[in-house]
Amino acid sequence: MSIPIPSPSAPSGPIAIIGAGLAGLACAQLLARAGHSVHVFDKSRGASGRMSTRRGTDAGAHWQCDHGAPSFQAHDADFRAQVRSWQEAGATAPWPGRIGLHDGERLRLQDNAPQRFVGTPRMTSPAAHMVRGMQDMPDPVRFQWQTTVEPLQTAAGEGAGWTLHSPEHGAAPQRYRTVLLAVPAPQAGALLEAVAPEAARLARSARMRPCWSVMVRCAGPVPMAVDGCVVEHSPLRWIARDSSKPGRSGPETWLLQASHSWSEAHLEDDAQTVTAALLQAFAQLGGPSPASVQATSHRWRYADATQPLHVDCWWSPAAGLGLCGDWLHNGTVEGAWLSGRSLARAVHAAGQRHAA
Ligand SMILES: Cc1cc2nc3c(=O)[nH]c(=O)nc-3n(C[C@H](O)[C@H](O)[C@H](O)COP(=O)(O)OP(=O)(O)OC[C@H]3O[C@@H](n4cnc5c(N)ncnc54)[C@H](O)[C@@H]3O)c2cc1C
Repeated sequence: MSIPIPSPSAPSGPIAIIGAGLAGLACAQLLARAGHSVHVFDKSRGASGRMSTRRGTDAGAHWQCDHGAPSFQAHDADFRAQVRSWQEAGATAPWPGRIGLHDGERLRLQDNAPQRFVGTPRMTSPAAHMVRGMQDMPDPVRFQWQTTVEPLQTAAGEGAGWTLHSPEHGAAPQRYRTVLLAVPAPQAGALLEAVAPEAARLARSARMRPCWSVMVRCAGPVPMAVDGCVVEHSPLRWIARDSSKPGRSGPETWLLQASHSWSEAHLEDDAQTVTAALLQAFAQLGGPSPASVQATSHRWRYADATQPLHVDCWWSPAAGLGLCGDWLHNGTVEGAWLSGRSLARAVHAAGQRHAA
């Protein structure tokens, strides 16, 4: 895959990236390929953020379900090239699922549904592939998991820069001249409030909405004529036969996603109540009887950037502070990747100007 920035001599000091979703990974990858030393921090046990997969067992039988982004599209030429390279590595495949629209009364198949891709064998696979690639570089990107950066502070003394703290590990030993946040807008806003009010205001201007998801394991095939379906006039907005995606094994599994407005209205409800309500809504669409399935719910407090900023990224060379993520672009997996790359280019260009 082409790298659209030349490889310079690496500037002094590592760059810290907070967040190892697709935006943070794309940013880290491009900066590392350009010769920068990069340290990535994430509060989770691994990479991928909202492109996520839950795995479990029911009475000893293994199941899995992509409970964040169920699929993604690729329009931009550079992102298509990235998707092709994931495909060559076996980490991604097109999902030839039958896609429909249920208007509350009847179900219609969509003839010209756009091409959708999924991670294989699970949605976290593209991110895992990227992490492996970055660990194999001559100057490997350093990943630190289970590290919730909080607070972010300006360092005292000469050269200033930033210090990172986390409840898990205390203060990071290293001081960073450049810190890049690749986290959802509300989390960026909270981290920046005290140290970078202008950037915090920008983050606060993006709207992100919640989504309750339910992962359903069925006793047998559900006789619906679709594998994925947009739903209207229901608590649900999207249902998908997760086990129809390429590379999956195990029981028939469905993902149910509640609409934004339903999720907001029921944000603080307990998981059991939510699961029962969404299984009932699924049954009304032709899904199995709630009593016949196993189900697990997950609440995404910040699922979708419904009012993204369409600015690609934000970067202050003076502060050594940058922001990337789906909410700065167009609110999609593709947008997150493009935003991360855009920030990497801006940071790299600033380093070159500084060196000149
Ligand atoms: C239910 C749902 C459905 C979706 N459907 C689609 C879809 O159909 N198509 C599509 O293209 N997109 C979809 N999306 C959106 C898609 O998942 C996101 O656009 C994309 O994954 C965002 O990537 P990101 O890197 O910007 O953010 P994230 O993936 O959220 O990554 C942020 C990372 O930062 C970490 N983090 C946060 N705060 C801190 C902290 N203080 N310290 C350390 N680490 C921190 C998190 O653990 C996370 O790993 C969906 C998302 C959800 C939740």
